[in-house]
Amino acid sequence: METAPIVLAMDGPSGSGKSSVSREVASTLGFRYLDTGAMYRALTWWMLREGVDVEDAAAVAALAGKAELSIGTDPLSAQVKVNGTDVSLPIRGREVTGAVSAVSAVPAVRTRLVGMQQQIIAATLAAGAGIVVEGRDIGTVVAPDAPVKMFLTATADARATRRTQEILHTGENATVHEMHIDMARRDNLDSSRAASPLAQAADSVLLDTTQLDKNGVVAAVLEQVRRTVLVSGTP
Ligand code: C5P
Repeated sequence: METAPIVLAMDGPSGSGKSSVSREVASTLGFRYLDTGAMYRALTWWMLREGVDVEDAAAVAALAGKAELSIGTDPLSAQVKVNGTDVSLPIRGREVTGAVSAVSAVPAVRTRLVGMQQQIIAATLAAGAGIVVEGRDIGTVVAPDAPVKMFLTATADARATRRTQEILHTGENATVHEMHIDMARRDNLDSSRAASPLAQAADSVLLDTTQLDKNGVVAAVLEQVRRTVLVSGTP
């Protein structure tokens, strides 16, 4: 599908299928891809390594700008680095997953990372490419003018099952029951924080992925892009 370079905002809670779908949609459209969750995870990884108590918001804020962070936008191999070290794999582990919501709730962290995300988006569009951006606050805060905004959901059972598979894939152990508890805690923190919480933008399209496989979700998202592009008259 030939599509004009636009921003496609993909929001939703963990386990809603955002990541795999976002990468696939980006590849299909020839777009770049930005995983904003990986940026919060990378900063959290570094803070844990520095021995920061992530529950201490003042300590987290003081270090928010201290690590050099870089993230690639290739949907087939988006690497994330902290001070030159590739942390793409360790940021998926349970330690980082357990700590990331506390770090991402700190306003100084959000100000830095949202600013970086907006710069990456602007540079991508300026270079003539479109970009799929996934996260929690893309349609509401990072890219409120995105012409296509999707909000993916799924039942708690479906999300916990998917998340368990992801963890097992990294070589760590996890049960669906543990993931249920972990995700409920993280969703609660992500949704209740004061600074840009997980929220559905009023003008986003809600997509329940519970009964759909990856291809089904990708098709639904591409259909939404096609409709938007047709309505706006963009080629
Ligand atoms: O998407 P992922 O599960 O990798 O995100 C990890 C965490 O990063 C989320 O639980 C949330 O705390 C934070 N996050 C965020 N805003 C985003 C993306 C992720 O606060 N745009």
